[in-house]
Amino acid sequence: MNRLASFGRLRHVPRTLRSTRTVSCRALSTSSTAASGYNVTDSDIATLAKRHQHQLSLADLVKHGRPPLSEDSLLSSANFTLGLLPIRLARRIQALRNLPYIVVTNPNISRIYSTYVHSLSILLPYWHAAAEGHPIATLDEEIKFTNTLAELVATHTDTIPILARGFLECRRYISPPEVTRFLDEHLRARIGTRLIAEQHIALHFSSQPHFDPEASPTPCPEHPSFVGVIDTALRPATVVESCAGFVADICELRYGTRPLLHVNGEPDTTFASIPMHLEYILTELLKNAFRATIENKSQEPVVVTIAPEPPLPVTDIPSIKSPGSDRGQFRSDAIRPLDDNAPGVTIRIRDRGGGISPDLVHNIWSYSFTTFSEDDEFPGSDNGGGGGNDGLNAISGASAGISSIAGLGYGLPLSRAYAEYFGGGIDVQSLYRWGTDVYLRLKGIGKIDP
Ligand code: ADP
Ligand code: MG
Repeated sequence: MNRLASFGRLRHVPRTLRSTRTVSCRALSTSSTAASGYNVTDSDIATLAKRHQHQLSLADLVKHGRPPLSEDSLLSSANFTLGLLPIRLARRIQALRNLPYIVVTNPNISRIYSTYVHSLSILLPYWHAAAEGHPIATLDEEIKFTNTLAELVATHTDTIPILARGFLECRRYISPPEVTRFLDEHLRARIGTRLIAEQHIALHFSSQPHFDPEASPTPCPEHPSFVGVIDTALRPATVVESCAGFVADICELRYGTRPLLHVNGEPDTTFASIPMHLEYILTELLKNAFRATIENKSQEPVVVTIAPEPPLPVTDIPSIKSPGSDRGQFRSDAIRPLDDNAPGVTIRIRDRGGGISPDLVHNIWSYSFTTFSEDDEFPGSDNGGGGGNDGLNAISGASAGISSIAGLGYGLPLSRAYAEYFGGGIDVQSLYRWGTDVYLRLKGIGKIDP
């Protein structure tokens, strides 16, 4: 399969479980019947959303143990997952409903709403059965449930460009701070919900005796360092190299050139973390660095420095922060590591791409802010003073599954959300007309007992 087309699409979901089902748009109906036939009522949503939302911890993700799991552990992981997801989905549905009416009626936003209602509808039969004293109790039921989870993960894979398009189309009806508030909460909640579902899917597949790595999610029993989606010996340099190769492919297609990459520091550092989160962040940061390098016609390599146990906490690194943001070491919705002193890593991505214009730096953490334009020969090169475009071309590409070098304006804010999820952070230092340093700090998640 073409690597560019496949990247980021269902790569963590086994092929056998991929679903092509589309969800019909039923937003704002007081009662929505999803494709599965299960009727999600207002009362279901209100009751679930009112329930206490369990604050996810890393201990939750690893408590079912290392693969291969016993049947009991697999069933208990399935029931644990079932106990969390419907509440989280119901809360997202309510948050979408609380947006101004004209925004929810936008076809893109209402498509996202329908996707959530559909996801809830496919989980509710399990939820109601469990409430009536029939939890997931056999391996056959567990397989059916895992298929349902995989469908859920697949259905939500491409939702970000759709949301982005929806909010751009509604910009006259909702203020930028309201959009930021909604997206910050929504996208962070989405990280947790996907993580819960993907962790069970990964545990399920790595428990299979006749395991086909080709058809599997990322973790596999041939890698004893994995516990579900967590790699206890993740080597960031390997992820940097593979993401840089992918981003260089995009550059070659778009600009006909591949920027050079140099990795230094202590590239053999390993730590316990979630590879797919690191892949997401590094892909976005390298896209920015490579794009700037090419647009600035620089021949200098992008230099990635890997340093274990950062000498400075992220709050001490002089940085460009979003206006009004008060980012301490730990956000309240961040997941605490198993051990606060677990080894972490700081990755500095240094480019000679000309830096960021002082007029624009305060915008870089806003969702949808971009200086990219599809139409320019070197997009953004004549756009420095005005700043920004509507980003719709990039969004069309992204929602069609085509990776673009830039244009959505979600790369920095969403990467920061991923980094902060486990108590890390991202900071940017720009030296205008020279280059940019991005500091990505990730806390290790701690030692997982065998
Ligand atoms: P996008 O890449 O889709 O534009 P991002 O959130 O990744 O969205 O970045 C927002 C903007 O920040 C970019 O359009 C660019 O103007 C600026 N930027 C980010 N990283 C760099 C960098 N390394 N060098 C120069 N400008 C950058
Ligand atoms: Mg970007």
